[in-house]
Amino acid sequence: MNQKSRKPAAHRENWRPDGWQDKPARQQPQYRDAAAVDSAVGRLGRLPQLVTPGEIEALKAQIAEAARGERFLLQGGDCAESFDDCTGDNIANKLKILLQMSLVLVTGMRKRVTRVGRIAGQYAKPRSADMETREGVTLPSYRGDLVNRPEFSFEAREPDPELMLRGYERAALTLNHIRALVDGGFADLHRPDNWDLDFVRHSPMEQEYRQIVDSVRDSLQFMETIAGGRVAGSDRVDFFTSHEALHLLYEQAQTHRMGPDGRWYNMSTHFPWIGMRTAEVDGAHVEYFRGIANPVAVKVGPGMSAEHLRELIEILDPMDEPGRLTLIHRLGAGKIEEGLPPLIEAARETGRTVLWSCDPMHGNTEKTQSGYKTRRVENVFSELEQAFRIHQELGSYLGGVHIELTGENVTECVGGASGLTEKDLERAYRSQVDPRLNYDQALELAMRVAGYRLR
Ligand code: PEP
Ligand code: MN
Repeated sequence: MNQKSRKPAAHRENWRPDGWQDKPARQQPQYRDAAAVDSAVGRLGRLPQLVTPGEIEALKAQIAEAARGERFLLQGGDCAESFDDCTGDNIANKLKILLQMSLVLVTGMRKRVTRVGRIAGQYAKPRSADMETREGVTLPSYRGDLVNRPEFSFEAREPDPELMLRGYERAALTLNHIRALVDGGFADLHRPDNWDLDFVRHSPMEQEYRQIVDSVRDSLQFMETIAGGRVAGSDRVDFFTSHEALHLLYEQAQTHRMGPDGRWYNMSTHFPWIGMRTAEVDGAHVEYFRGIANPVAVKVGPGMSAEHLRELIEILDPMDEPGRLTLIHRLGAGKIEEGLPPLIEAARETGRTVLWSCDPMHGNTEKTQSGYKTRRVENVFSELEQAFRIHQELGSYLGGVHIELTGENVTECVGGASGLTEKDLERAYRSQVDPRLNYDQALELAMRVAGYRLR
């Protein structure tokens, strides 16, 4: 059935940016002062939009290409950004590691790569418990800097609606810095040294990475000699933003009718996603997401039934709009073999063309004896390898990876070529929430995905 001819706007009748408020909304902060909330949401809604409909539609077109197997999506960044970490160096280093990884992917896979950060808005976190008890004192859980603060005191844990404005401001500062770097030639393929991180010089990956950079430089020179000019697209790259659109008041306030067709867009980010804990078909998040025109993603975990997935696809992508829907599976290295095939089958039954991406992080979280939340890099790589193989065996295409990483030299995940052990975790464990791949581990992941044989 050819559904592509249908107009994509029809299903958004009877939808309002605040319509989700009539549905059960999980994982929302319990604010005490309704007037303060209204005031913050009102002011947030009048501030300038962070992204443009043109950028959002450009990303959607790239995701459509990835869904057709012509492109690869690299999405990565912190589990949770923190307001304190909004510094020039942190932002540049995150951009650098994503650029380095994408260079490796482009050369190894011979496919164009779309780069999306978990950045400029990744400030709200779902929690397994609403309250946390320490030494007999019970306080609200930390839900990300958009909601409250991590210190264990009554003042810090009280949800504060003004933090939505502080989050918007940090997102704007982050995006401004990214745009300035990209426009200033930071992502110019002729100058990959720009995005060298100091650590590459101490990395077990150094030699391989240098060879890739040299070969890219040689090929570019060759092409430009033949063509007598710059290769199109080689002097700047696109970079897009994404976050889990969890805190619905924050998202609603930044939802505007925009663009030539007057569609509703979430203007706080290019590419919002629904987390695994808020993907109920009748829930507030799915209601909010169905009405926005952005490309959207849903995390798909071990508990999700084939029927649940089919319903989600019908609601979120009723018109089979190219690039509209990405499914990010996060099953775990031990569960993917059994869990993924029925999900691929369920999606296929809907007749939609979705982009499949693999998050090899969230199904592989464990706690060490000394209490650190960690992930074993071997499990992360194993889930990814299985994911590529299973999609291929079923005639499907894995067109993306979604990872938690940082450009810093942290010790949060164990394993990898530099051999981090559990003992190393205490040295540089900085995440407030989930453990991230460090610079070496992230580069190694890209090399493996790209098919480079490592020593
Ligand atoms: C996350 O991406 O940080 C997250 C909470 O993921 P999930 O919803 O897949 O558990
Ligand atoms: Mn996480």
